[in-house]
Amino acid sequence: MNDRDHKIVKILKKNILRHGALSLADYMHICLTHPIHGYYIKNEPIGTKGDFTTSPEISQMFGELIGLWIVQVWMDHQKPEKFSLVELGPGKGTLMADILRATRMITDFHNSLELILIEISPSLKSIQKRTLKGFPAQWKTEIKALPNQPTIIIANEFFDALPINQFQRKSDKWMEVMVNLKGLSGSYSNEFCFELMNPSTASSEILINFENEVPEEGCMIEISKTMQNIVYCLSKHIHQNSGAALIIDYGKEGNVGNTLQAVHKHRYSNPLSSPGQQDLTSFVDFKAIRTYAEESGLIASHLTNQGDFLKNLGIEQRAEILSKGLSGNDLVLHQTALDRLINKNLMGDLFKVLGIRSAKSPPLIGLET
Ligand code: SAH
Repeated sequence: MNDRDHKIVKILKKNILRHGALSLADYMHICLTHPIHGYYIKNEPIGTKGDFTTSPEISQMFGELIGLWIVQVWMDHQKPEKFSLVELGPGKGTLMADILRATRMITDFHNSLELILIEISPSLKSIQKRTLKGFPAQWKTEIKALPNQPTIIIANEFFDALPINQFQRKSDKWMEVMVNLKGLSGSYSNEFCFELMNPSTASSEILINFENEVPEEGCMIEISKTMQNIVYCLSKHIHQNSGAALIIDYGKEGNVGNTLQAVHKHRYSNPLSSPGQQDLTSFVDFKAIRTYAEESGLIASHLTNQGDFLKNLGIEQRAEILSKGLSGNDLVLHQTALDRLINKNLMGDLFKVLGIRSAKSPPLIGLET
């Protein structure tokens, strides 16, 4: 354990000793985004040397096709002279770089767009600055800060990184999954453990929508208050200014039980070991996103899987064109990358795509058409 590890473990322990066990959401929040020792703040998580790899890092085709989707949405909004192109959690900036490269020949498109990146991590922000060098971009930490103009928002593997609360049904009531210290009475243990406890007042409020359900004994639900706030905020913005959002992530429609996972160096690990050193994620609840967007007056598309979405946009034809210039190992790598993105046994089905748009705009390409 290095010195910095030790500090985040100390922070978590101090919190638990002072205020009692942490909700899973509070534990995830500290581990992932503590301003000095959080996982996203001090690590470079993405790529072969990091902990996980994302679709834009697998092939340029991913960003090229999303670029096409964005251009179509812009055209469907009568090519506004000024619009915001926003990415939530841009990672290394690869997706946005591919989008910008693929769309540079579209007349007036680049002149109209104001590029805004929402990023919490200073180290990833500097990588994004390097990747997007030469393109005027602004960085913000909150959706609330977006300017009032038509807005297209994209988010790939952003929502899975947001903290969740977990609740389990026991003897006809909801209990909350909390993170506690093993053998708290000894108080020197570094070992964290999960414990079921009565929900706090704040947590009971989160559960309000589930009050009328009659769940089975032992079933588990996951709710992300942070996600709810973000979706309400972006939906309100799109409702007021017109536009759309494209959300891509591994996920589910509704609650499917415990989906919390930790990934370190491309392997699954225990979510309670090495706090701040590993990625913590959960399956995105797309049903909840749809509900929050519709409550805000927006239209949400069907949930489509990533393979079908990319095929609807023409990824196979694009792959064919690119393969003409390749041979040997490069060609094999190119074909493998395509397969990883669209094969239903790989990312093609696990990853889902949801589009949301202002009620007056036309149906979304690849999702509703
Ligand atoms: N979209 C990228 C990276 C996904 S990783 C890709 O597809 O490669 C998650 C990204 O979200 C990282 O850039 C991380 O720093 C950022 N992030 C996580 N939590 C955030 C938060 N609360 N606010 C803003 N950015 C956040």
